[in-house]
Amino acid sequence: MNLSTFLRKIRYRVLPNIKYLPQSRFRRCQCCLKPSLIISFSDGEEFKLCIRCRANLRYEMLAMMLRKYCSDFSNKVIVEFDPNSPLSIPFSGAYNYIKTYYSTSVPVGFINADGLRCENIKQTSFDDTSVDVMISSDVLEHVPDIEAAFIETKRILKLSGFQIFTVPPRLTKNN
Ligand SMILES: [Zn+2]
Repeated sequence: MNLSTFLRKIRYRVLPNIKYLPQSRFRRCQCCLKPSLIISFSDGEEFKLCIRCRANLRYEMLAMMLRKYCSDFSNKVIVEFDPNSPLSIPFSGAYNYIKTYYSTSVPVGFINADGLRCENIKQTSFDDTSVDVMISSDVLEHVPDIEAAFIETKRILKLSGFQIFTVPPRLTKNN
């Protein structure tokens, strides 16, 4: 990053958000389960991040739900449709934790140098009934044919498996 880019980020991203820092709190993060500083960069919950694992409230809630529905991941295959998810820290002890990314320029199933696997949520390279847990956080709202995504989910999940996902709320004029 050159000096002008750095200064521009300070001016437009850091300085306007300094006023939110007093909203930061020390508490136990529900994602990494450690005492942490949840640092605030904005009024909303999306930009209040654990300094240990980078989880915001959305990821903390996903972690809580995952632990609620499964107590032992050591024999589970987890597929997450997010290459940078903070969930990979607390759930790295799974039998197989597969972080995926989406690209139209490489075939599904391709694993890049960082160990990330290219997948299309509508047509993955996973075998039938081979996945225990499927996670997507704010992904499905970007998928044009969402029914195809759910059909694919049903194909790859084991009968005992489950999918957990978030989508942003759709606000109406009355909200
Ligand atoms: Zn954390």
